Amino acid sequence: MNAGMLAHIACRMEGAKCPQARNDDKRLWRSPSWTVMREVRLRHHHLLCTRTFSGKGYDPRFVANMEKIVSALLSPNDHVIRLSASCDDICSSCPNKVRGRCKDQESVLEKDRSAAMFLSLPEETTLPAEPLLELVNERMCELDDIRLICGECEWAELCNEWLASSKKIGDKMGN
Ligand code: SF4
Ligand code: SF4
Repeated sequence: MNAGMLAHIACRMEGAKCPQARNDDKRLWRSPSWTVMREVRLRHHHLLCTRTFSGKGYDPRFVANMEKIVSALLSPNDHVIRLSASCDDICSSCPNKVRGRCKDQESVLEKDRSAAMFLSLPEETTLPAEPLLELVNERMCELDDIRLICGECEWAELCNEWLASSKKIGDKMGN
């Protein structure tokens, strides 16, 4: 799945937003085949975090929410991802979110820009989760050091362990 194909799907998805969605249910979408899809809001760099998540996080509430999101994305067919460089469904349970913003706003915006560039994604868009996550997985397989995208994140060591073990599994499978 390349970025051009994703942009094409984005246009179709914009056109497929269910016109009859109730006001209190704006997070349900209908795919072009009219299957109801649930929306997950993510900032760009969190696409990577959902891949490398290993059950650790800032506090138990953050971890429980992250587990919920990661497990929802294990059924990507049922979801669309709304991308935006602002507080998202992961930030919503994070102790670092203060008055609607990340307390490390400048550095997370930099991570979002870097992840968007790495994945060739626009600043704001909504895409079906399955091809988007395929793209993220493919691109991450090419990475040796997550800090090239995420800078000096406190979790980088753990994420690099994830990259290394994914590569080993890929090698064993002959990918
Ligand atoms: S290094 Fe940090 S920002 Fe990057 S994927 Fe890991 S946890 Fe997320
Ligand atoms: S550290 Fe900032 S960007 Fe990351 S989840 Fe918390 S509020 Fe969101």
